[in-house]
Amino acid sequence: MTNNLLFPLTEEHEMIRQTARDFAQNEIAPIAADYDESGEFPFETIKKMGEMGFMGIEVPEEYGGAGMDTLAYVLALEEVCKADAAHGTIMSVNNSLFCFGILKFGTEEQKQKYVRGVASGKAIGAYSLTEPMSGSDAGTMRSRAVRDGDHYVLNGRKSWITSGPVADTMVVFAMTEPEKKHRGITAFIVEAGKPGYILGKKEPKLGIRASATSEVVFEGYQLPVENRLGEEGDGFKIAMTVLDAGRVGIAAQALGIAEAAYDASLAYAGEREAFGQKIGEFQGISFKLADMKTRIEASRLLTYNAALAKERSKTTGERFTLEASMAKLFSSETAMFVTHAAVQIHAGMGYSKELPIERYFRDAKITEIYEGTSEIQRLVIFRLETGLK
Ligand SMILES: Cc1cc2nc3c(=O)[nH]c(=O)nc-3n(C[C@H](O)[C@H](O)[C@H](O)COP(=O)(O)OP(=O)(O)OC[C@H]3O[C@@H](n4cnc5c(N)ncnc54)[C@H](O)[C@@H]3O)c2cc1C
Repeated sequence: MTNNLLFPLTEEHEMIRQTARDFAQNEIAPIAADYDESGEFPFETIKKMGEMGFMGIEVPEEYGGAGMDTLAYVLALEEVCKADAAHGTIMSVNNSLFCFGILKFGTEEQKQKYVRGVASGKAIGAYSLTEPMSGSDAGTMRSRAVRDGDHYVLNGRKSWITSGPVADTMVVFAMTEPEKKHRGITAFIVEAGKPGYILGKKEPKLGIRASATSEVVFEGYQLPVENRLGEEGDGFKIAMTVLDAGRVGIAAQALGIAEAAYDASLAYAGEREAFGQKIGEFQGISFKLADMKTRIEASRLLTYNAALAKERSKTTGERFTLEASMAKLFSSETAMFVTHAAVQIHAGMGYSKELPIERYFRDAKITEIYEGTSEIQRLVIFRLETGLK
């Protein structure tokens, strides 16, 4: 696929894109199907990605990261997801949902203590907002944190936590003042493996199967007051700000999945024959490919634009919620559109596990669900545009 970019890439951007592409195609693509089948966590490749700086691309070097910008992050994540979206999920949680939040809202001590390990890939980070009875509507969460002198006692059950089974540390959201609903949520940095930290059931999944996902249960878990992220009651604001950053990553993930499915489909349409001609010569197939390509390029523009908006916010402090939501909404629906068409173009072989097409199709679906469903993105976009609730 050719990329006629409107966005000028610096030499540094080209370098990270090429480095990520080489690594992803040589080291991740060949193992992706096996890890998808077994559902094992890919420790080895994640460790290597950490050594290459991919686990904290935007994190300043003083905190163990690569010290690059948001566009560099998006370009690298897109390449990783072209090879395997599950590796991309793990990468995106470490970068956006864990490191970004602590860098933005944490104390100097918290940054030194918790960001360094995750940004360098030596530790795995996670983000715990969702609960069995509370997804899109976070204000209904039941987890409670009660202050007792110099520590808090945490009780509750979190569900669908990406990297939950393997995380060393995670940002956890819990109610400190339940009667205030979403204004009563507080964020905490939690270390795994301490008394009262219990791994719950592993979530069996349709796609991104190599990214471990589980429930995490807290029963009388004690954490020092220094591990509170921000002030009491800041949790909802922190959760939503962090999701803005996360959504830029999910847009890049969706873009990568769609590109992989399109590239394979274009090649297949030029090889496979039916009724004495290449299937790409049938208008029914060529129009599909034209639509796939056009939507991918539109996704790219929205996604890179969101990356630039996020980068700009580092100096202006302006939110980039609208850009992030539009990029995530459009790219994720494009990934579904493109992978659906890719299965159809490959037909029987698209349905076969001998090719990665069916995996792209399964993996694409999650991008419409996590970090805010498509319905929630539409709600966010409409509210920001109109000011209506
Ligand atoms: C593989 C995977 C990994 C995940 N990783 C994490 C993670 O690391 N950390 C974490 O905290 N969470 C994680 N999640 C949870 C994810 O963010 C939630 O599943 C998602 O936010 C939706 O919540 P829900 O599943 O409870 O759906 P619900 O909120 O119950 O929604 C059900 C349906 O109702 C619709 N709906 C809800 N409210 C509205 C509304 N106001 N208007 C219109 N429609 C609406 C939704 O769009 C959806 O279609 C993960 C989920 C999955 C599947």
